Amino acid sequence: MIHHFIENEFVPPVEGETFETLNPATNQPITAVASGSAADIDRAVQAARQAFDEGPWPRMTAADRAKALRKIGNLIEKRAEEITDVEITDTGVPASQLRKGVIARAAQNFYFFAEMVTQISGESFPKDGQFMNYTVRRPVGVAGLITPWNVPFMLETWKVAPCLAAGNTCILKPAEWAPLSANKLAEIIQEADLPPGVFNVVQGIGETAGAALVAHPGVQLISFTGETTTGQEIMRNGAATLKRFSMELGGKSPTMVFEDADLDRALDGAIWQVYSLNGERCTAGSRLLVQASIYDDFVNKLAARVAKIRVGDPMDMNTEVGPLIHPEHWGRVRAYMNVARDEGAVIAVGGERPSHLPHGNYFQPTLITNVDNRMRIAQEEIFGPALVVIRFQDEAEALRIANDIKYGLAAYVWTGDLTRGHRVAEAIESGMVWINSQNVRDLRTPFGGSKHSGIGREGGRYSFDFYTEVTTIHVALGEHKIPKLGAE
Ligand code: NAD
Repeated sequence: MIHHFIENEFVPPVEGETFETLNPATNQPITAVASGSAADIDRAVQAARQAFDEGPWPRMTAADRAKALRKIGNLIEKRAEEITDVEITDTGVPASQLRKGVIARAAQNFYFFAEMVTQISGESFPKDGQFMNYTVRRPVGVAGLITPWNVPFMLETWKVAPCLAAGNTCILKPAEWAPLSANKLAEIIQEADLPPGVFNVVQGIGETAGAALVAHPGVQLISFTGETTTGQEIMRNGAATLKRFSMELGGKSPTMVFEDADLDRALDGAIWQVYSLNGERCTAGSRLLVQASIYDDFVNKLAARVAKIRVGDPMDMNTEVGPLIHPEHWGRVRAYMNVARDEGAVIAVGGERPSHLPHGNYFQPTLITNVDNRMRIAQEEIFGPALVVIRFQDEAEALRIANDIKYGLAAYVWTGDLTRGHRVAEAIESGMVWINSQNVRDLRTPFGGSKHSGIGREGGRYSFDFYTEVTTIHVALGEHKIPKLGAE
């Protein structure tokens, strides 16, 4: 059984409840996992609270914390293969994508924030020789980190590393559909020998363990990545205890292909950006906007490529798309195919279970054409290997369509005219825009969404805006005037 991890010990759930995690390739149970209750959360928060209020972690030098983080990064690299195997079995994300990029990035998250934290500085505001005003940054306290199931290990480390680097302590609540790699992180942090209570994991269901973490008065920060509706619920539940929130939410990001683009590269980018990670990617370019003059040619080539994407066993290095996370999610993605037909769209490729894969949560890479942007399939996040294609006449129409949506996480612009690229990028209502590229991350840049895709930014120094408290210190340098009430 997978236990919680509290005060550097693996502990069973107080109330003895468990749930099963399934292998998406077979839907066979992998193992039982502790299902956290309010009592488990309370125990973990007490531990994190004590580690913060009395322990060495927030009081260590940044350089010493950085050293501990680098050790965690080294251990991730050392155990990368084992972590990758666990993650593939738990999520169905293909080995070819996890082994090459995602797990290495998890180690990088620790190395990067170890470096960053030694560079945190305040600002100074000298005032006419009378005052020296300056800011210092200090850790906030106990953080609740709530993560989704799509690329769990990478996203967990993306939160844990800056949170701990800044000197906070935390409770991680991983997603119940992919809980196993968080347990690997706990093993690694136990081996790295961080002070007890600095890092804790409480496994469990969102509505119970997650909700108890959000409501707990001993927690100051909630960093959440997941669905927009869950984020709304969490903000309501955290209001009574006035949490500081970072919200990384859903998306339905546009990929815009203009007639003057390098169309071969645009094709590669558009395909990668929606079908990698099984389409379960928050920054998926899941709405493809193609200029009318090149539409037929581009979409024909796209359809031919999508039909050839290799779906299969995620452990096989040749697989390009693996099974979806859970039968329930498979059902949700499948249901959108009926929505598409009912709305008058055309399923040009896919839309079904692949005939050679009768078991597990496999779904054909799907291309949907004849789409109007106001259709539900263009407005709602499907979070699977499904791309909708919309035609536009000119730049103004492309922008209108791109912005006509509640989401604003990412956007991808393909054009040979960089002036247009910049112009369009600035006009898109979106947290992040890539010009002539798929999503290539630079960890120094702010990551996050606008509109219903999120609140706040993480990444680089922006992570420390969330994970630190700014104190302003005003120092009188001379004998400035102090009003003398009651002196006469
Ligand atoms: P989800 O919202 O269902 O769950 C995310 C986490 O929240 C899980 O750990 C879950 O247990 C927990 N949770 C659920 N209800 C809760 C509650 N009431 N209180 C506290 N915690 C609760 O999301 P998911 O299905 O796991 O992930 C897919 C979603 O995540 C997609 O919408 C995707 O776009 C989004 N996502 C966003 C980003 C980003 O950076 N913007 C990155 C990855 C995924």
